[in-house]
Amino acid sequence: MPVAARMRQAMEAGSWIRQMFELGIQLKRQHGEQNVFDLSLGNPILEPPAAFRAELKRLAEDPATGTHRYMPNAGYPETRQVIAAKLAKELRLPFTGQHVVMTCGAGGAINVVFKALLDPGDEVLVLAPYFPEYLGYADNHGGVARVVPFTEGFQPDLDALRKAITPRTKVLMVNSPNNPSGMVYSEECLRGIAGVLAGAETRFGHSVYLVSDEPYANLVYDGMALPRPLLHHQASILVTSYSKDLSLAGERIGYLAVHPSCPDVQELVDACTYANRVLGFVNAPALMQRVVRTLQEQRVDVAWYQRQRDRLYEGLRATGYMLHKPEGAFYAFPKSPIPDDVAFMKELLEERVIVTPGVGFGAPGYFRISYSVEERVLDGALEGFARVAKQHKLIP
Ligand code: PLP
Repeated sequence: MPVAARMRQAMEAGSWIRQMFELGIQLKRQHGEQNVFDLSLGNPILEPPAAFRAELKRLAEDPATGTHRYMPNAGYPETRQVIAAKLAKELRLPFTGQHVVMTCGAGGAINVVFKALLDPGDEVLVLAPYFPEYLGYADNHGGVARVVPFTEGFQPDLDALRKAITPRTKVLMVNSPNNPSGMVYSEECLRGIAGVLAGAETRFGHSVYLVSDEPYANLVYDGMALPRPLLHHQASILVTSYSKDLSLAGERIGYLAVHPSCPDVQELVDACTYANRVLGFVNAPALMQRVVRTLQEQRVDVAWYQRQRDRLYEGLRATGYMLHKPEGAFYAFPKSPIPDDVAFMKELLEERVIVTPGVGFGAPGYFRISYSVEERVLDGALEGFARVAKQHKLIP
């Protein structure tokens, strides 16, 4: 029995993901890759912008010595400063390089923050529908994840949030634009969340940290100005990455930034820096830190994602599915036509369409579609969706 009991339990709880993945492989083997329409993966499909390759080439030819060595655990001071300046301009908060720690993606950043903040048994509130990795990340650091339900439009239920907070609550995770719903939390919603946190801080006499997970902040549509959680709560930390907006998911580059007015800000940054080290990340990838330094204004073709969103939304609505129009990220989260979203996923598999059931995101009765796929995959999937819709008589 080589594997820890907790690990075995966690793997079993997540086994449906593996089953789906294996079903997908089986389907592709059976029908040929081009006849299977896999909408289950949140992998950015666009190539990074041309400026990325140019900068990579320029740096590869840079003869300066020492560029592949260790650096301070928080990252290169120059990169941290550039990011701080960008955040200061965007959020109008006095960020300096001292507030920023470079990390191995947003996933690495969340683990670093949890390691820095959580004592065993501390509670982490996650707002459904949520990115499932939060549960594992909290558990990594002795935290206990508690799920808060949602209301209309996948906005958090503030009454339920108020009731879920206990003296052990240390962190609230906020993710907008949201994976899996594709929705953005409104300014009013963020104000409401901040009010609940402020109330809890007064009652319990300690900070409740808002961790704003923003890897999709630059993937918003229809010219929307994204409401920013850090503007509403001082005990807050932004975590993000270049995985989605520069399509660098495999390069593992991101950062965290502690709100300049966060209580004990320097101690928290120091703890995150130490966590980066002892979690074995040591530092974020050196080459990528140097590359992204000059690419702060670069993005993949966001309009392409918006067009994919429109095709999917219109296609699904026309065949009778119920869904909110996604406002950002590259996911849609329709209502399953039958209450059992896993059973519905299986019906779609008959049509060689692969989606992810909502139950894995804390939202049974829905399913997630990633539209970060080739256009032909989306078109093929829409045909499958239409056939299943007909079986369920979604439109007369
Ligand atoms: N947070 C959310 C909401 C995500 O969807 C993802 C990736 O899909 C991550 C964090 C982790 O991203 P990365 O570690 O690649 O930055």
